[in-house]
Amino acid sequence: MQDQLAGLISGLDLETATDTFVVVPTRAAGEQLRRSVEDRLLQTRAVMAWPNVGPRADLYRELASRATRTPLPLSEFDREVLLARVAREVRQAGLEPPFALRPSLVAEMVALYDHIRRQARTLEDFDRNLRAELEPSADTDRGAAQLLGQTAFLTAVFTAYERQLAALGASDEHRLREHLLAAASPRPLQHVLVAVADRVADADGLWPVDFALLAQLPRLARVDVIATEALLASGFLERVHAALPGLDEVLDAGSVSRTSTESAAPRLVVPAADVLVAIARDREEELALVARRLKAARRSGAPPPLARQALIVRRPLPYLYLARSVFGGAGVPFEALDTLPLAAEPFAAALDLVLDAVATSFARPALVGLLRSPHFTFEAASLHLSEQAIGALDRALAEARYLGGLDRLSALSNGWDTATGHTGREGRRRRLARPAMDVALDLARQLAPLSEPGPVLQQLESVQTFLSRHHRPLAHDPDPERSARVRRAVTGALAALGAAYAVHDAGAEVTGGDLSSTIRRFLGGQTFAVRTGVAGLCLLDAQAARFADVDEAQLLGLVEGEWPEPARRSIFYPPSLLGLIDPAPAADDPNRRESEARAAARAAFVDLLGLARHHVRASAFSLEFDTIVEPSPFADDIGAIGLAVEVADLPPSTAVFAEEALLAVPPALEAVSPQARAWAVIRQDRSASGDRRFLGEAGPWAMPRVSVSRIDRYLKCPFQFFASEVLALEEEPEDGDLPPPWERGRFLHAIFESFFREWQQRGHRGVSAEDVPAARALLEGVCERALASLPAQEAALERPRLYGSAASAGIIDRVLSMEAERPAVVERRLVEFELDAAFSFRSPGDTTRVVPLRAKVDRVDLLSGGLFRVIDYKSKLVPDPRRSVQLQVYTSAIAQQLERIGDARQPVEAFYLSLEGDAPVKALRPARNQALDEILREAEQRMVQAIDDIGAGHFPARPTPRSLCAQCPFDSVCRKAFVEPEDA
Ligand code: SF4
Repeated sequence: MQDQLAGLISGLDLETATDTFVVVPTRAAGEQLRRSVEDRLLQTRAVMAWPNVGPRADLYRELASRATRTPLPLSEFDREVLLARVAREVRQAGLEPPFALRPSLVAEMVALYDHIRRQARTLEDFDRNLRAELEPSADTDRGAAQLLGQTAFLTAVFTAYERQLAALGASDEHRLREHLLAAASPRPLQHVLVAVADRVADADGLWPVDFALLAQLPRLARVDVIATEALLASGFLERVHAALPGLDEVLDAGSVSRTSTESAAPRLVVPAADVLVAIARDREEELALVARRLKAARRSGAPPPLARQALIVRRPLPYLYLARSVFGGAGVPFEALDTLPLAAEPFAAALDLVLDAVATSFARPALVGLLRSPHFTFEAASLHLSEQAIGALDRALAEARYLGGLDRLSALSNGWDTATGHTGREGRRRRLARPAMDVALDLARQLAPLSEPGPVLQQLESVQTFLSRHHRPLAHDPDPERSARVRRAVTGALAALGAAYAVHDAGAEVTGGDLSSTIRRFLGGQTFAVRTGVAGLCLLDAQAARFADVDEAQLLGLVEGEWPEPARRSIFYPPSLLGLIDPAPAADDPNRRESEARAAARAAFVDLLGLARHHVRASAFSLEFDTIVEPSPFADDIGAIGLAVEVADLPPSTAVFAEEALLAVPPALEAVSPQARAWAVIRQDRSASGDRRFLGEAGPWAMPRVSVSRIDRYLKCPFQFFASEVLALEEEPEDGDLPPPWERGRFLHAIFESFFREWQQRGHRGVSAEDVPAARALLEGVCERALASLPAQEAALERPRLYGSAASAGIIDRVLSMEAERPAVVERRLVEFELDAAFSFRSPGDTTRVVPLRAKVDRVDLLSGGLFRVIDYKSKLVPDPRRSVQLQVYTSAIAQQLERIGDARQPVEAFYLSLEGDAPVKALRPARNQALDEILREAEQRMVQAIDDIGAGHFPARPTPRSLCAQCPFDSVCRKAFVEPEDA
């Protein structure tokens, strides 16, 4: 195919080239074609005439530029805004759609309209064919009735849209086509080379109306359709004959430009005779294996130039992003030319932060994210905001339970000004956060009009003003030229959207949420051409690769869902219904189009395997994130293609990446970049990795006072204890509408204290099953008094927790059933029982240790018979008594305390009562033949050992259980990477 194209292009002179157009699938494919043809032709001649090259959209642009009195062309922005307006008007006129008119659905409506018209069908055809199919079952089938209503609505909208176009004297692609066919251009295209298949075979291919246009375009003298044998055999030959009747067929298998020593087909290089596809763990490793192979080839002799080698992927993302780090790390130059979603570029993501702040009504994460964005500059009293100020604001807002809203933010700020007595940590934090609070308030006030309903034009202008006022270039931008292009593309898209509204829907009003989704939808539809690198290994998508002339090729990512790519489906109708407007419907085989598409995808795959002049490889991966992926069904076909096979050794596992050079002993610093080298030198000065400090030995540390809950934290993970108690790091704040756990705990404890005091004052000594109704009445009364003391919003959230709901039992029920299920004669209840003395605990080796302890125990019930029981309330999760020592240590200390006050008693039971967790009661359970005292002794010994370890500064990262790390607030500073090998 490339030879044919080169042959046809070589026959052009300056005059004929101007009037020639080559249709390729994408612009990147056009660039590859230019390189391949120039490489061939400029070897034998000094100059060549280059024709117009581009995808079908560029062909239409070229034809429009040559036509006279062309109706005003509408941009994609114009079309969507216009269609959204007429859809709204149709609905207002009484025809209700069975879906919400969201911006993304308007885009789908435009796509459906184009689909109908590009199939050379009228709106009458669409309406008639679908009605004929749906009406017979609409009375009995709700789905059919809904699709019928949808068809009526869409037909009305599309008809109104066409009427509007005519009234405006404007054109979209379809009206332009009519205009081109009606009047000959004074400067016509003479020759069109079609190097792309039809829409059935290729998502970027030509539609029936495109072929019809080429067949009938006035003064177009010649059309060449160039296709490979594999593609023609997949069904394209039959379809192209139907689309272009009278077509001459020319079979040219002889003009290959390969030298006589080159075989026409490349050799397939495989990892083993019976393994044709190399499998890597994931995409990153797949690229790493390529880098190792290339490095090994360079070391072993004269490899083919990198520019003559291609990596072929079905989709550029995420390979393009991964290639930067993998090939960058291995020092393999590579080049990619592709179009990426504009929304994935950093500046577009920064605009998203602005939209997010508006859409969430300035919720804490969105507001703080905006303040932290390096793309904006926000100043308070001419001072640049520090990261500490923003961090302090983040925490202060979380602690204030701020969930968004300008009024609430403003009230908080005023409260900071007037609050007194905040001299401790809270006061310091507020002083630190003040500049950030001022800026946040200022930002929220600037953006607040966007959250109110308002004219869309004004809203868009406000967004643009905000961007231009606060944007700043990145301090260390690795590619400032690209960033500037992205900024222009984003601001250009906003301007184009504004212009479209000004012309077609100037009176439209939007709210903040709608504005955000409208802008996101339009930016989401934009792409951005990127060129990565300037020379080296070529990373090509499958569309562009067909036009590349290379010696070596590797097809990457041969997994299900990519090779072949699933067809894009309409959101409105299943393929079987849309097939009714196919120009050549296959009544006998409704799936014919799908099987033809599959055959064409397989043909394209076979062509790519035969693309390179010398060698081809195929690879896949088995894991995408944590999900196992299946190989492509095409992988099984490779053996049947008949390529000669060559088994290659795996590349040696020598170091090729910068990180491997750094890990070498000694580190090979000359192999890394100067910046990395500077860091490595600093790190080399650190103590050796075998140093005990790397293993969590921090040196002696005196715990200010022993707290059993802190000991429990140490037992769960010593490094977590170190981060929280020794380094005093604060945990990440969490958003929530409820008070923090300690505040809720205090609220619930106060309820229980009042209830049991009053219950006892009424002469009760326990809560038996018969007592439950009276106890409930009293407890509910106490709860009501407590709820009345809370702000209304908090009380509304707390009430169902106390009283329960249809989904779960409430705290009142849990407490009373626990009491009734454990009948006991309670002589006295000691609520919030205070321990503050030195207690004697058994230590390892059965010696004793005196430990000063201060704690408040939720409840101690003094029972008849000289016994007592201990109850500890937990809001949700209860500790596992095998790992925690809290309940056991409290029980031992209480026994000592009671003895000291002359009321010596034996513990009979100790348990956690979970107020909202899955299991309400978790008790200390002695094993068979084991006394409760055995459990207490074992826990005391563990506590004493932990105190000794803490004092010795022994803080290894040792989570128990290991799943603790998943929710650890100190994960980001944890040294477990250093300790685990030693620990394992
Ligand atoms: S991440 Fe795991 S090992 Fe590290 S401190 Fe947290 S719980 Fe311990």
